[in-house]
Amino acid sequence: MADVLTSEQRHRCMSHIRNKNTSPELKVRKMVHSMGFRYRLHVDTLPGKPDLVFPRMKKVIFVHGCFWHLHSCKYGSVKPTTNADFWKAKREDNKERDSRNREKLFQKGWQVLCIWECETKNESELKSRLIEYLE
Ligand SMILES: [Zn+2]
Repeated sequence: MADVLTSEQRHRCMSHIRNKNTSPELKVRKMVHSMGFRYRLHVDTLPGKPDLVFPRMKKVIFVHGCFWHLHSCKYGSVKPTTNADFWKAKREDNKERDSRNREKLFQKGWQVLCIWECETKNESELKSRLIEYLE
């Protein structure tokens, strides 16, 4: 069969797939699932629509991208050179919204764990944090 994609197209296509499969949220979901916990996803009746929700334990987990949510790590400190003001405002909005949502959840009696994208890179550390939080 003829190869219809140029190598550049194929590269782009594959890196898209790879990113999707190893997205930080998916990584956390798979790990939590393999530990035997069951959860609901993106519950939109809760503040901030938490990524993972454990209704009986009243616990939620947010998985935050370092860039988008302005983490204090090297990924979160990246400053785009074009449209700098636009990105700055957008990311600061996200950060403020995050802390407002955390506060609302606390007030409703929920426990909240935020996992940053950079913290999903070390799987054994991630796993022990999840165990500590959920057990
Ligand atoms: Zn980070």
